[in-house]
Amino acid sequence: MGWPWHDESMDRTIDQPTMTHLLTHAQFLQHDTGSHPENANRLRSILAHPPFQQWASRCTMISGPWEPVPAEELKILHRRELIDLAERVSRQGGGRLDMDTVCSAASFDVARSAVACAREAVDRVMKASDRQALCLVRPPGHHATAMESMGFCIFNNIALAARYAQRQHGVERVLIVDFDVHHGNGTQDLFYDDPSVFFFSTHRFPFYPGTGRSEEKGTGAGLGYTLNVPLPFGITRHDFREAFAQGLARAAQAIKPQLVLISAGFDAHQADPVGSLSLEAEDFAVFTKQISDVAQTHAQGRIVSLLEGGYSLEWLPECVTAHLQALVESQPPQ
Ligand SMILES: [Zn+2]
Repeated sequence: MGWPWHDESMDRTIDQPTMTHLLTHAQFLQHDTGSHPENANRLRSILAHPPFQQWASRCTMISGPWEPVPAEELKILHRRELIDLAERVSRQGGGRLDMDTVCSAASFDVARSAVACAREAVDRVMKASDRQALCLVRPPGHHATAMESMGFCIFNNIALAARYAQRQHGVERVLIVDFDVHHGNGTQDLFYDDPSVFFFSTHRFPFYPGTGRSEEKGTGAGLGYTLNVPLPFGITRHDFREAFAQGLARAAQAIKPQLVLISAGFDAHQADPVGSLSLEAEDFAVFTKQISDVAQTHAQGRIVSLLEGGYSLEWLPECVTAHLQALVESQPPQ
């Protein structure tokens, strides 16, 4: 299929203040992982899905390409060793950063462009109230810690976006909601002692990466600003939704965010070949609506959502569409 948004004339139709922004570009296909579950066909399958295209047409489409964020600027959260390793492996033509994290020749640049895309989304939602943005980027980010690229993730896109919002836009309180089926250990680690970024995660447990117990609540000044809701395999949809709603309400009350970021992983879908909990596509719409309500109450409707996991090429497009539709429909009447 062709890339739907290659036409520059469609780009950057900005300053429509109540629009949902959709950010993506063919450059995110260039992170070439071969037959790995986290591969470029995930993004292709979303963009080729007619219902997705229908909802995308109601968005302000922001097409890149994005210039890679300078490596220096990643040091705000990542150690030099992690950055240097990704650069070296990429420059050598590719390899693995850990057992399951593939890095191709283009990946060092593409991963930094994903961070740039997330930053632009932050810039756009901070320009006015009632703005949301969905970034369809690869590679994902929420497992990347200060020290390690891991779990298909090279740099922690969402954590870097949160810090960028704080530094660039003076945002004091950020809520990160992570409904990926895996625990976002990297994001948790990066803000574990930081009361300015609340990390709320629902995830399958026990499961990769092994963290995310309910006892993990933060440390020092950050104690009480991490909320983990581990869920057992076999949980019903009803119980999952109940647990999500309760956790989200607690998180919102604790941080009263000025900006809400979403680690939007769709691998808790019941048919996902990697994650598989009990969810159907429409459950992601329910979550998104609840997150939008929190953003409306506390954050002037400001949401930036970043694609994380989701590995069923059949169901991922349905799930992303449900998520996008809920973002679009969360717009207040004009
Ligand atoms: Zn995942």
